[in-house]
Amino acid sequence: MLPNATFPTVAERTCNAGKAGEVLAVDIAGAKAIAAAIPVTGTETLPLIESLGRICANAVASSIDLPPFDNSAMDGYALRLGELAGKGPWQLPVAARIAAGQIAGSSYPAGCTVRIFTGAPLPAGFDAVVMQENCERFGAMVRLSQKPPAGQNVRIAGEDVANGATVAAPGTLLTPERIALLAATGTASVAVLRKVRIGLVSTGSELVEPGGLLSAGQIYNSNRFFLRAALDRPWIEPVDFGIVADDPEAIRTMVSEAARRCDVVITTGGVSAGEEDHMMDVLKRENAELEVLKVAMRPGKPVTVGRIGSALFFGLPGNPYATAATFARIALPAIKRTAGFQKLSASWMPAVSGFTYRRKQGRTEYVPVTWSRLDADGLPIVEMLGRGSSASLSPLAMARATAVLPPDMPAILPGMRLRIEPLCD
Ligand code: AMP
Ligand code: MG
Repeated sequence: MLPNATFPTVAERTCNAGKAGEVLAVDIAGAKAIAAAIPVTGTETLPLIESLGRICANAVASSIDLPPFDNSAMDGYALRLGELAGKGPWQLPVAARIAAGQIAGSSYPAGCTVRIFTGAPLPAGFDAVVMQENCERFGAMVRLSQKPPAGQNVRIAGEDVANGATVAAPGTLLTPERIALLAATGTASVAVLRKVRIGLVSTGSELVEPGGLLSAGQIYNSNRFFLRAALDRPWIEPVDFGIVADDPEAIRTMVSEAARRCDVVITTGGVSAGEEDHMMDVLKRENAELEVLKVAMRPGKPVTVGRIGSALFFGLPGNPYATAATFARIALPAIKRTAGFQKLSASWMPAVSGFTYRRKQGRTEYVPVTWSRLDADGLPIVEMLGRGSSASLSPLAMARATAVLPPDMPAILPGMRLRIEPLCD
């Protein structure tokens, strides 16, 4: 057996950081953020064709059976099995021809077969279809040598969806597949939840937008681009407040306007304890109710989550990888709850470490990984990219996934089982 990385329970992961406040385990911080989210209730009705990526507001029930009638799953010959007496081969006259879109006759002579095509209605009393490749046709007769089992190549009315069954529950994401199911049951329009308005504020006096010239000491604003791209989803309406300098009054004006206008506000930068980190003062003055101040994760320890009036607030740390990691683990599930999603958990899959990494314990660590080999069980053997600097973006841009290193593992060794998660799911 390979040594497995264990995933401690929520209760095991909380620890207390003392004077600066409690450091919460990732799961607890995520759960607190979800608990602080208030789902939107407004709805709009859209033509089904325009509903991709939106969230279903109400349960949708099918008003028909799917398929609506018994029909053939193959091009071939329909039979009544009870008429195949004795041992084959049997020779049967072809009494009719039914193509998709035609209707079956109400009665056919005893001992006959019917030429039938995929999707064509099966005549009443017929109970199997022999595919044409397994028959020999002689003029108006067909010979078959094997008796098919009952129901072969027959699709029974309602076998996919029964009349009255739920085809979309409230909180379901409308994917191409779900839309196809709704279309198949005749649904032409669908009620969806209104888009979640998310305000973005990039704080930092050093920030310049790409396209501008960098003066000494300045850097380009990458977090805004990450967040705009990560939030580019049909159920989100972004409201971009641009860059605000490290000035408490300027930040306060921007954050309070964003909180008035949006369901969710995300700021980046200024949440640490430095003299130029003003977010905490701003939040105090805005009477924010804060649920999370620090999270036992790396990167991304300082993360502020709470509510400012009617808005859910996330103060993400400014280092680009910390912004990305805290967005994915702490902010996104709560944003999904705000949007009305039923499923909040991100997907993950097992992998095997291909690297050695000795580390400080105590925080859940997210490391960018890639892979080009699979082990004997087909699991990816992952290699760690970069050395976990929260300021580095290139390992993240090259990564295929993030490996989650539990807080209590002093060393990750080759062959250990790890959990990997998509970068932004
Ligand atoms: P802060 O969280 O404000 O202390 O910022 C931490 C680090 O992240 C500093 O090196 C900042 O310059 C950098 N940083 C903050 N905001 C951004 C941003 N929007 N884009 C890129 N880097 C940023
Ligand atoms: Mg800053």
